[in-house]
Amino acid sequence: MLRFFRLAYLYLTLLALSLLQAACGDITATPVQTIAAVTPTLQPVSTIAPTLTTARPFTVALDPGHGGDDWGAGHFNSNDQPDLLEKDLTLQLSTATATLLRQSGFKVVITRNGDASANNLTTDLNGDGKINELDDLQARLNLANNSKADLLLSLHINSSTPGDGAGGFETWYCADRSFAERNKLFAQLIQQESIASMYSFGYEAQDRRVADDLEIDWNGNHLYMFGPPTPTRKSATTMPGALTEVLFITNDTEANLLKDSKTIKALAEGYTRAIQQYFAYYKV
Ligand SMILES: [Zn+2]
Repeated sequence: MLRFFRLAYLYLTLLALSLLQAACGDITATPVQTIAAVTPTLQPVSTIAPTLTTARPFTVALDPGHGGDDWGAGHFNSNDQPDLLEKDLTLQLSTATATLLRQSGFKVVITRNGDASANNLTTDLNGDGKINELDDLQARLNLANNSKADLLLSLHINSSTPGDGAGGFETWYCADRSFAERNKLFAQLIQQESIASMYSFGYEAQDRRVADDLEIDWNGNHLYMFGPPTPTRKSATTMPGALTEVLFITNDTEANLLKDSKTIKALAEGYTRAIQQYFAYYKV
């Protein structure tokens, strides 16, 4: 099947390029619009219709990873200066997604609106006797709970050793919750629509994995914002959710894509599709 779609994609791209050439004599025109014609081949494996139920206005919490002094990962230029930071990209992605979700009738909360920590590292929110990055995560988690969000999406950008070629998408969920099945479906939808978004303008991103967060080497701990309560997690989230690692900032090709506002827009559209599909399936 995939071979057929690739051939169809190639055919339609060539056809559209020849039409573009005929129309304006410019074969360097980006094939963005032409590829939209074949995106239906990347429809979800499920048969969930991408329509939004209007049963009630659902609230979505978006969590732009990092912020303030916590840059997250970065891309560094040839002078070893950072030219792209994870904290900025996650905020751009969240802001763009919030706009689209609100236009689609959702309520949206964002765990940080500017370039700052969610907690400013001033309060021992999780009650472990220390003030550290876990309190920042607890502040985000509390905001999602207090806003009675129905779904939580945490956005991060992946990183590896520069030049090692690592790239693509990973999405993590917690299987150790009462709503584990919802977590998993949402993670799968986010991963699938992320890949489809990049494919829509010709980048075949690697589908690395959708996985239980215990597969990450966290010494047996779940992701802080998604796991069940523990002595250092004062309260757990009350809603399903997933954490997605969006491409690799250490991969020059993917860093260049992430610098492009078209990529941010395409991914925001992908997240919106995934969220619409989730609520079309889980109407309560
Ligand atoms: Zn991160």
